[in-house]
Amino acid sequence: MSSSPVNFHDLTREQLRALTVRWGFSPVHAARLWSYVYLERVDAWALMPELPARYRAKAEAELVFARLPVAVETHSADGFTRKYLLALADDRRIETVLMRYTGRVTACISSQAGCAMGCVFCATGQMGFVRHLTPGEIVAQALHVDRVLQGAAGGERLRNIVLMGMGEPLHNYDAVMHAIDILRDSSGLGIGAKRITLSTVGVVPGIIRLADEARPMHLAVSLHAAIQEERAALVPVAGKWPLAELMDACRYYIAKQERRIFYEWTLIEGKNDTLESAHAVGRLLRGQQAQVNLIPLNPTAGYGGAPTGREAAKKFQAVLAEYGLPSTVRQRRGIDIDAGCGQLAAAK
Ligand code: SAH
Ligand code: SF4
Repeated sequence: MSSSPVNFHDLTREQLRALTVRWGFSPVHAARLWSYVYLERVDAWALMPELPARYRAKAEAELVFARLPVAVETHSADGFTRKYLLALADDRRIETVLMRYTGRVTACISSQAGCAMGCVFCATGQMGFVRHLTPGEIVAQALHVDRVLQGAAGGERLRNIVLMGMGEPLHNYDAVMHAIDILRDSSGLGIGAKRITLSTVGVVPGIIRLADEARPMHLAVSLHAAIQEERAALVPVAGKWPLAELMDACRYYIAKQERRIFYEWTLIEGKNDTLESAHAVGRLLRGQQAQVNLIPLNPTAGYGGAPTGREAAKKFQAVLAEYGLPSTVRQRRGIDIDAGCGQLAAAK
């Protein structure tokens, strides 16, 4: 009886080692296989001559390297953003985005197909939940972007990842953390803790768990409103995890991890961009080790609001500064190809 092969990219280095030993081989071969795949970026058995033939045959019978084929690729007119619609094995689709800022390339990766959280202004929320991604499907997105970069002039390597694509990463906690362990592995891709940012809508139990675990990364929390009723109107799960509980969890995270939190605030004209709103944020976050990232609303089919203009955004920032809160306004990238924050939605 043959069971279906395991996706290599679902395995941590330790799991590959354990599997190799269970097959009756030396862990040395597992280490070599790991470095072929994650250091040399080889994923064809024929290109791994240093693996002993017997081990290679066994590994080949048991493991597959599941790439995610590109269904559609789109480039923004300014050349800074590329969006990939990638096909999963069950023919579901997800989106991955490659973003270039000055001196930095970042992969924006999905954690789920669709999303169950239903934020009103988000295209992924508007499409609903399809399914969780496996660790291997999350890792494969990073590898895809890495291959694109290697193929580009100059042969760059992927060094920055944001879990800000489709889905709510803390709703798929175990698979996401497992994938992060693979991405961070110092004998592999080695993407450092400071170069991984996870963005959450505010899944309180997930934030507490993250605070208690030794898996450093940057944490971004999507706030959008500083008053419970206003937040619940934009972010329905605020009913389940109210603002007061969210703030307790965030303070706990900051204290436990000794690291600040980035709060994300989608700026919607006339809705949450007034000076009163800014003062409410100031009062809510005053004294916290926090930075506020303002994201002018990107258009989506299911929500009619308009983005806040530059001047109003600056005034909002000035109020935050009065409370000692640093802030940035996110550079708008890839809007023409629907690759901006909250615009990712994969038609099945
Ligand atoms: N589910 C996670 C991560 C994915 S969304 C989260 O919600 O945090 C990444 C960011 O894009 C979030 O801050 C989200 O609120 C924001 N966003 C969603 N829709 C948007 C839109 N239409 N315009 C601008 N930002 C949006
Ligand atoms: Fe899901 Fe984040 Fe979109 Fe909300 S903003 S629906 S949590 S992906």
